[in-house]
Amino acid sequence: MVNAMDIKKVIAIGGSDPSGGAGIQADIKTFVELGVYPYTALAAVTAQNSKGVKSYEILSARFLRDQIEAILNDTKVHGVKTGMLGSSENVMEIAYLVSGQMIENSIIDPVIKANDGKMLVSEASITVLKKRLLPYCFMITPNINEAEWLTGINIRNVDDFMGAAKALKETGVEWVLIKGGHLEGGKAIDLLFDGKNEFYFETDKIPIENVRGTGCMLASAICAFLAQGMQAYDAVDKAKTYVANKIKKAVLLGKGSLQAIHYFNKGELNEDRAY
Ligand code: PLP
Repeated sequence: MVNAMDIKKVIAIGGSDPSGGAGIQADIKTFVELGVYPYTALAAVTAQNSKGVKSYEILSARFLRDQIEAILNDTKVHGVKTGMLGSSENVMEIAYLVSGQMIENSIIDPVIKANDGKMLVSEASITVLKKRLLPYCFMITPNINEAEWLTGINIRNVDDFMGAAKALKETGVEWVLIKGGHLEGGKAIDLLFDGKNEFYFETDKIPIENVRGTGCMLASAICAFLAQGMQAYDAVDKAKTYVANKIKKAVLLGKGSLQAIHYFNKGELNEDRAY
């Protein structure tokens, strides 16, 4: 029998991807696979498939708040992960939530553009995210493009990581994880920084380019591990291994990018866990 007291609960707040590769659907699958209960609140709904985003609609801040309140009036959650928030007003809703300390373990994946280059949020919302949301958050997980957008710093190599990490740290966020997977070269290097400690994660690049939702899965996995009591370094380390395994086993389900597969195949479950 599962004891309800032992279940860690987390909420993903972001956009729906009907093809399941990215967004809320990727978050849910990651949470379930890593053993935390997935609550969700939709900030936006996209129309997309493995080839790209066709269109999207951003939901109102009022409606986003109703969804979040419906959950939080009913239960306690142990972590929150945000993705595509869309508007400044939606970012402000999350800022109220996190600054009011209603949720710990807040992981911000600063979604700005889709893989196909389509802008998914308003430009104004990026400033609001920096000024109003990040000061209260535990971790932000930008890739290089997102870190450049957020800081205005040009990142050409690993030496530039620290400048961007320091600039993001100045917002008040506790931890900054800069994901360097998109830099040229055979190694994928990430930097985790809290203002004092800097940890570099260096791995061989997996020669598989176009898997969708890797940023969503990584941030969700970090959130799941933190909610289960891990420290920041260990949560990032384990989450990276988890996503690397997802990339290695990704498959082509549509006509565009590869899709990560989660363990809906029972036979695989015990012999082949990613962690
Ligand atoms: N959320 C939604 C709804 C998206 O459509 C996308 C990308 O298209 C993302 C998040 C970000 O995905 P990634 O994991 O590639 O950063």
